[in-house]
Amino acid sequence: MLTRMAVSVTVLASGSKGNCTLVSSSTTRLLIDAGLSCREVLRRLASCGEDHGTIDAVLITHEHSDHVAGIRVLARRLKVPVYISGPTYQEYQRFARDADGNKVEIERREQFSPGHSFHIGDIAVTPFTIPHDAVDPVGFTFRADGIKVGICTDLGYMPPSVRHHLRGCDVLMIESNHDLEQLRNGPYPWSVKQRVMSRVGHLSNDALADFLTSDYDGQAEFLILAHLSEQNNHPEIARMTAERALGNQRSLLHNQLMLAAQHEPLAAVRL
Ligand SMILES: [Zn+2]
Ligand SMILES: [Zn+2]
Repeated sequence: MLTRMAVSVTVLASGSKGNCTLVSSSTTRLLIDAGLSCREVLRRLASCGEDHGTIDAVLITHEHSDHVAGIRVLARRLKVPVYISGPTYQEYQRFARDADGNKVEIERREQFSPGHSFHIGDIAVTPFTIPHDAVDPVGFTFRADGIKVGICTDLGYMPPSVRHHLRGCDVLMIESNHDLEQLRNGPYPWSVKQRVMSRVGHLSNDALADFLTSDYDGQAEFLILAHLSEQNNHPEIARMTAERALGNQRSLLHNQLMLAAQHEPLAAVRL
């Protein structure tokens, strides 16, 4: 019998130096964020054997440069629309400039609002509000071919609404940004440490572990730890903290744990 891989997730880059993830169904292909240069996104897609000519759209989570730096050039090159919330686009426009210092526009733009689902091809997209120090930050869930994918990074904590949206994910890509001890003792100025630790900053390994222990439904076949800090975390610490949290619930041990990286793509997850 022929088994078709219907949905795949490929994290091209994850972290404070740039984020970009490819989510594909059998007929539709979306890039989530474009925090790398256009050239680097194309290079990484090619290195994963992915054809950039088949991308249908780019979706933006929030206006921080590690999520939008390459968006304008990339969208023009791929000739695809950019899905972005109204406030996020306004904020992007306030700061975005071309090489000559002129203000820029994204030509093909589709506006979404958090909490309101929409379709791109056969993928149902739901953007939902997350707590982060941006004007209108969102996480996304994607549904296609009976599979649910959740992508949720850049959030200070896990409010009930976010926990609700992430229920039933078959692939869950979630932030495990920092080790609190390393952050406290690390090189960042105190103001930056406070920002990262705040309710609108980034999710620590321990905060993620709390969620995995207390509220996570264990449905995911693949759990991808993402947006790891290079300064204030270590992949093995993030992995061990999550494994310990999962190990507390024996039923969750079938979850395959993966770590997204900044400098090279993560092998595609296929369902
Ligand atoms: Zn970020
Ligand atoms: Zn951010």
